Amino acid sequence: MNITIRNLKMIYPTGKTALQDISLEMNSPNLIGLVGPNGAGKSTLMNLLVAGLLPTSGQIQLDGAPLEKNTKKLKSTLGYLPQSFGLYDELTVWQFLEYIAALKGIKDSQETIKKVILETNLTDQKKARIRTLSGGQRQRVGIAQAFLGEPELLIFDEPTVGLDPEERIHFRNLFSKSSQNKIVLLSTHIIEDVQSICNRLIVFDHGSMLFDGKPEQLIMLARGHVGILQNQSEQKTTQNYQVTARVNTADGVNCRIVAEKLPAASQKVEPSLEDAYTYLIAKEGRKL
Ligand code: ADP
Repeated sequence: MNITIRNLKMIYPTGKTALQDISLEMNSPNLIGLVGPNGAGKSTLMNLLVAGLLPTSGQIQLDGAPLEKNTKKLKSTLGYLPQSFGLYDELTVWQFLEYIAALKGIKDSQETIKKVILETNLTDQKKARIRTLSGGQRQRVGIAQAFLGEPELLIFDEPTVGLDPEERIHFRNLFSKSSQNKIVLLSTHIIEDVQSICNRLIVFDHGSMLFDGKPEQLIMLARGHVGILQNQSEQKTTQNYQVTARVNTADGVNCRIVAEKLPAASQKVEPSLEDAYTYLIAKEGRKL
């Protein structure tokens, strides 16, 4: 499967420009992490990819054909978890998945539902009404419906929101396993999720794409821009750097910082992916 995005622009009727001139290509297999601050344009891109919105200009092609002329193929190959997902509260988990399976036109729905229920750890909840589920369990139901029918294209908007750490690890592994032969695009605020499973990272801010590459490449860009400042008194801090972590000690505060030019008193350290992401966003926002 191939998705080609060319010069995509989205201006909402309110006049807000959510995406400006985005071009990129996705081929299977690919597990892509889409990250960026709130309002960066991630959900808008996902909505355009599932044909839930029409772009102001530019084009999305699915296997060489314009998306708007290929909606039948899109429907049969797409699994989508939107950010706010209206579940049918009075249905049980099983009934809800049966309903979605019918909408997707899945034939052997009973076997298919059994499989996704197992994969998403919902066996104990399969007969429970959706209104009785916890936030994390509801999120799992949302993920389960996206997996129904083994779609070739999986789009998840913040899939790990509301999951506890153990569940997040479970799902990270599941996304990773399910990405074989597929395109999986997941947006997240949690950089660890990207670091552990994605082979490609796309960073958005203010509707523009700031980075598209391997997580290691982003880390390389931040080398020499991350350091530790030890025993800082709060008053001494200057504003040419951004603090990514601070630890109080008996002698003062130890700060992990990102900077265009590290202060002489700092000790250089190897960037984490989170440092590298912070460096990129701060640099582009001219905050360094
Ligand atoms: P993200 O998912 O990265 O948080 P969004 O795609 O939701 O970002 O939003 C991008 C920008 O578009 C934001 O400034 C947001 O306020 C605006 N926006 C999103 N949806 C709408 C809408 N339906 N109408 C007007 N503006 C919108």
